[in-house]
Amino acid sequence: MTKEPTFRESVDIMYSRAVALMDLPPGLAEKIRVCNATYTVRFGVRLRGGIQTFTGYRSVHSEHMEPVKGGIRFATSVNQDEVEALAALMTYKCALVEAPYGGSKGGLCIDPREWNDSELEQITRRFAYELIKRDLIHPSQNVPAPDMGTGEREMAWMADQYQRMHTTDINARACVTGKPVNAGGIAGRTEATGRGVQYALREFFRNAHDASRAGLSGSLDGKRVIVQGLGNVGFHAAKFLSEEDGSKVIAVIERDGAVFDEHGLNIENLRNHIIKTGGVNGFPSATFEEDGAKLLEAECDILIPAALEGVINLTNAARIKAPLIIEAANGPVTAGADDILRDKGTVIIPDMYANAGGVTVSYFEWVKNLSHIRLGRMQRRAEEARHQLIVDELERLSADTGIGWELSPGFKQQYLRGAGELELVRSGLDDTMRQAYNDMADVWREREDVADLRTAAYLVAIDKVAASYRAKGL
Ligand code: GLU
Repeated sequence: MTKEPTFRESVDIMYSRAVALMDLPPGLAEKIRVCNATYTVRFGVRLRGGIQTFTGYRSVHSEHMEPVKGGIRFATSVNQDEVEALAALMTYKCALVEAPYGGSKGGLCIDPREWNDSELEQITRRFAYELIKRDLIHPSQNVPAPDMGTGEREMAWMADQYQRMHTTDINARACVTGKPVNAGGIAGRTEATGRGVQYALREFFRNAHDASRAGLSGSLDGKRVIVQGLGNVGFHAAKFLSEEDGSKVIAVIERDGAVFDEHGLNIENLRNHIIKTGGVNGFPSATFEEDGAKLLEAECDILIPAALEGVINLTNAARIKAPLIIEAANGPVTAGADDILRDKGTVIIPDMYANAGGVTVSYFEWVKNLSHIRLGRMQRRAEEARHQLIVDELERLSADTGIGWELSPGFKQQYLRGAGELELVRSGLDDTMRQAYNDMADVWREREDVADLRTAAYLVAIDKVAASYRAKGL
């Protein structure tokens, strides 16, 4: 490949690679590949003394299951090609982690930093109004979520807008996910994608043979990590890996450049520095490099692109030294770069699996909204009471027999605490990430004609989508 494919073309190339290894009925591969519909809206909002026009999209890739699901991003780079590629990835991502949705994605062409809070609220509500009017935001048809440039706040505005337009819909809150916890959200949604990256890496290293294919061994402890993008996903992944798994985040690449510290950066402090100063430059005790992209090519064990698509491409792929790349962002490696890296033996944990933690916890939030009850509310105290029985019995036995056993310090407190919503969400996410990893990796391990995890992930996902079409008689 000499010419860089577009994002949409990249997804198609990767899809076709997988389809070539499958035995799909004629026509079905094409039916699954194509994007069903993309709605473009141009709307005006009266702001700053004039009418400002904005362009937004909501693309529906596949309705083999409904509702369809996927985030809405606010960025100046948003265009139809990108939204369609992202919607396709959502279809495969949901299939792979068994979230019962078709794929969709939305975007608004805007730089959110150029507008103040009240202006952004007006713009978001107006965009939501246009989508709600056409059932492109709807609890049983199309359920958006946060993505680049959006978060809890935007989701709360959208949910409220839907509620205003559907005042008697008892399930109105399930029309978007990623809402604040006090407005129908779920504990652990904000951290979910980064947390999913951590769980994915843990499962990869639990399988020593898989890790050895990247020339790596042991656990995450002491592994040298480079992260590109300290947004919601990159921040949580970097924070959890460094604080809980003993990994060293030696470099972080941001808009204004990169900071580097061989001993490992303090991620919480770095994030605060970025919030305060707008960039990584000037972060105490780290070396600053203005040409941040150079750090993508630095020596490390794990590279985590968690920002934009297409950052690893034909121009730099050959110089990437990391033996393991985990795609926390969507589409960070182009199809051309993918070929080069595969030939070099670099292992890539693909986006459709690696960043599926977000949609997985969105699924839990949606279920919570539809069931109108907080997770764990019925079980928590019952669980505690049963545990208390065992502890009481152990203590009675110890006293009656005179053995004098003592429970280890902290055990009682830990064991007696029933699982609350956050623990349940993390447990469900961990289970999902482990299961999906092994579904994907089994194909990679067992089929000689499957050279990489991405192709394996596509095979598993396409198979599931095809099965659901077949069940419908298509
Ligand atoms: N925007 C996220 C993604 O790309 C989350 C989607 C969702 O939660 O529906 O996967």
